[in-house]
Amino acid sequence: MRIVAAVVAILLSLPALAQEASPPLPRPKPLVEENGPVVPLPRLRPAKEAPAAAAETAKEVYGPPKPEPQKPPAPPRVYQTACPAVLLGRVEAKALPPIRDGQCGTQSPLSVTGVLANGRMVPVSGGVETDCGMASALPGWIESVDSYILSREDTRIAEVVVGTSYMCRRVNGGSDGNLSFHAFADALDVVGFKLEDGRMVSVAGGWSDALSPEGRLLRFAHGSACAHFTTVLGPEANAEHQDHLHVDLGCHGKTCTARLCE
Ligand SMILES: [Zn+2]
Repeated sequence: MRIVAAVVAILLSLPALAQEASPPLPRPKPLVEENGPVVPLPRLRPAKEAPAAAAETAKEVYGPPKPEPQKPPAPPRVYQTACPAVLLGRVEAKALPPIRDGQCGTQSPLSVTGVLANGRMVPVSGGVETDCGMASALPGWIESVDSYILSREDTRIAEVVVGTSYMCRRVNGGSDGNLSFHAFADALDVVGFKLEDGRMVSVAGGWSDALSPEGRLLRFAHGSACAHFTTVLGPEANAEHQDHLHVDLGCHGKTCTARLCE
């Protein structure tokens, strides 16, 4: 009896097991909703026009295409170097744009208006355009000349007067030959010194009398320059230098350590 009861119980539970194993699938929704509108089908895309035909159509509608506005080309970047003597306050100067004049010129010229000597800024006149090397050599030279005149005559330099600085020309102004260092803003022609006592000591007027205070000052200036520049040419060098002291930082000798002092 017990076995029969168990078999009956198993048979009775079979439909419930079948329902758990496979739940009913959802019924598909009808395309036509009950009492509602028909769901619209997507419209067919129009056939693509050929690119040429499309361009033709655009031309008819908008006129001929306008040319794209051309951007002006960016100016080339200017690369220049700063001058330590200016940064340190030993030279009063402002940077100028690069000078490009055929073979002449320099990348980072300076307009020098003063040099530090014995604790003050001594004006430099003449519209000096020179490079950093020359500008850096000037304060030491001017300070030594200033110290000399202070010790000998109890006055000081009021102004350094420069004739030619940058100039695109050949050596001694000739029509052929090498370019002068003036052509690279690497040379200065100093024509004289204004003193605080009012005198103007010029090479043209003061050199000839070697024993006069002016003659002595100019000779000291000439000799002292030889310690600060690689080329120093004065009235005794040649007739071209009768009225000024030419100083530059040109290279002499294989290692650029030789000096020309005349
Ligand atoms: Zn010169």
